[in-house]
Order: sequence, then structure tokens, then C-alpha cells
Amino acid sequence: MEKIRKIKRIIKECPCGKIIELRPKQYKRKKYCSTVCMYKYRYPNKGWIDTDGYRRISVNGKSIDEHKYIWVRHNQMPIPKGCCIHHINGNPLNNDIKNLILLPRGYHSSLHREIEKRRRLRI
Ligand SMILES: [Zn+2]
Ligand SMILES: [Zn+2]
Repeated sequence: MEKIRKIKRIIKECPCGKIIELRPKQYKRKKYCSTVCMYKYRYPNKGWIDTDGYRRISVNGKSIDEHKYIWVRHNQMPIPKGCCIHHINGNPLNNDIKNLILLPRGYHSSLHREIEKRRRLRI
């Protein structure tokens, strides 16, 4: 314990390979460079939250957006070209099949612009 107090910065390596500098107080708790890495490495089977806010899972060694995977498996078909899977209730972490809907890409992005506009007006 005394040794730790004397050192000002502690260097650790995140499993992703990034070097992280920690203050002694954080030393025991912090192991990952970001929350993305924390979910990725601590709960590899439950998936992790990507920087864009979507949950990603690993399937056969490849990472894939969980909502796309669920939709494809449920409908037994690939996502048609030019289409997106949208979260009906606006929560990108609710990947219940009932919350997912297939939308044309153009309509989907204008829908998101509209949602974003309304959110900003409320502030
Ligand atoms: Zn990392
Ligand atoms: Zn959407």
C-alpha cells in the first residue's frame, strides 16, 4: 500500500492494447481505457456498447450490431440493401424484436434528424 502512495502515475495496459495512466486511487478499480472496452472485455458474451450507442456482440469471431443480428435471425433473411433497422422507442439498447423495424435508409436518416431536432427544441 505504501509503495502505491509514493507513485504518482501508474501505467496499465487495456486488453485492447491502449496504455492507460492511472492515479493510485483508481488503480484497483480501473482496468480499461473506456466503457466500450469495459463491456467488451468484462462481459464478452453479453456484448458491449459501442461508441455509437449500439450494443455489439461477437458472432463467430466477428463483431456485429446486436439489433441487426436479432432482426436477421428473426426474419431469416439478410437486411435488404438500402435499408436500416430502427429502434421504435428510440432506445438503441432495447433490442427486443418488437422494438425493431425495417426502414428505407433515406427515410430512416430523416426520421433521426427529426428526432434530434425535437430533442434540441426541448432543451
Ligand atoms: Zn481499451
Ligand atoms: Zn434509427
